[in-house]
Amino acid sequence: MRGIDFREVRALISMADVLELLGFQARESSGQQRRGPCLLHGSDESSRVFSVNLAKNAFQCFKCGAVGNQLDLWAAVTKQSLYQAALDLCQRLNRDVPWLKTAQR
Ligand SMILES: [Zn+2]
Repeated sequence: MRGIDFREVRALISMADVLELLGFQARESSGQQRRGPCLLHGSDESSRVFSVNLAKNAFQCFKCGAVGNQLDLWAAVTKQSLYQAALDLCQRLNRDVPWLKTAQR
């Protein structure tokens, strides 16, 4: 299995990209912060427990305690491994997969 440069994936694909794919509807918006219903534990639509920082590409849910970056979010919502989630996101968003360079022999 070829290695993926996850750091590069996070540079190519932003939290905003992932939220858009997931159809996230923010209930509150201030600067780079978005608040809305949790995409993971299924809170009701008016909920604002789910907090996102678009500048830091980070999310946190104050109810279920989920926390992570955009890649973690996609993996958790779509129930895939980080590896699969990274491939999946690159495909959906038409980005070249940043494979890790293998050593030359
Ligand atoms: Zn939650």
